[in-house]
Amino acid sequence: MLKPGATIGILGGGQLGRMLALAAARLDLNCHVYSPEKDSCAFAVVRQHTCADYEDASALRRFAEAVDVVTYEFENVPAKTAAFLQRRKQVVPDPKVLETTQDRLVEKDFLRGLKIATAPYAPVHSATQLTDAIAALGLPAVLKTRQLGYDGKGQAKIDRDSDPIAAWRGLQNAPSILEGFIAFEREVSVIVARARDGKVECFDVTENVHRDHILKISSVPAKVTPALAAEARRVATRIAKAFDYVGVLAVEMFVVRSGAKRHVMVNEIAPRVHNSGHWTIDGATVSQFEQHIRAVAGWPLAKPLRLGRVEMTNLIGDEIDEAARWLSVPGAAVHLYGKGAARPGRKMGHVTRVWPARR
Ligand code: AMP
Repeated sequence: MLKPGATIGILGGGQLGRMLALAAARLDLNCHVYSPEKDSCAFAVVRQHTCADYEDASALRRFAEAVDVVTYEFENVPAKTAAFLQRRKQVVPDPKVLETTQDRLVEKDFLRGLKIATAPYAPVHSATQLTDAIAALGLPAVLKTRQLGYDGKGQAKIDRDSDPIAAWRGLQNAPSILEGFIAFEREVSVIVARARDGKVECFDVTENVHRDHILKISSVPAKVTPALAAEARRVATRIAKAFDYVGVLAVEMFVVRSGAKRHVMVNEIAPRVHNSGHWTIDGATVSQFEQHIRAVAGWPLAKPLRLGRVEMTNLIGDEIDEAARWLSVPGAAVHLYGKGAARPGRKMGHVTRVWPARR
């Protein structure tokens, strides 16, 4: 268990690292952010940072020596970097989880092994396999690269009238999977925290609306029945336990209707704090960021209580110009990430509104 005043090393310097560091500061824990990008927005809120490549052995060695434990805020930490650090300092959550979550095929197989529902899928490593996969799954379908996909990148929808080979070429013929297209009713996510002693706390199920494949709005509670919400939380908990996970993990799911029944299908696992959990900063008694810091530090988790109905809106690209207007909206909590250039599709900030529950 870390003592107040200890230092947590964070790999990755984006807004997730920034919000982790802000949560840590409140608990008298320091953060040291390691990121290869000069303009990392997390650098501004920490006492120490390292700007170096993930392959820079001497920078990594110094980083490991300067911190008490290491965690990460993005899931594409190179396996070699994680292994290098692990030989020198504890890395939490254990980077072995990355071997599963960095590869969509391995992740889907892992879920299948746990008997957790996903979209039907098949590997695509050749044109023949692509044809076979289409024959097995039908169209429309979604082709996704096994690695390095996010916010809809590395994905192509294949319709009945599209040319599948051209779609795969568009993904540079990278090893991929084909997924059956799911006509979901809604998209939800569960943010789950697991402590070193195995205790688990889930936040309330969140409903997510994407625009151009990027999360735009998260609202809580999700419009699902208590039974479905319980099922979603159970699925997330089983995943966290199966990984023997320590920290915060996000599970994105589709809500699918078959006849009168509804169930969830897991779309993606993110082994980190997640955009769909940003509402917890202003909308709950403990945030996903604090839960992660507590878990990494070996502290007990808090029991999260939601403060009312909550809606989080991402400010993407030049929507950051709307921040000034949001500042005077009653009850709106404005978060600016300090990222500088507002490139299209870039997450620049978010706004959370809470409608307090009547007691
Ligand atoms: P992903 O990168 O896998 O999180 O996918 C991004 C978004 O694409 C999801 O949030 C869904 O809105 C959509 N999507 C992904 N996979 C499927 C699928 N198999 N069927 C329908 N929509 C999908």
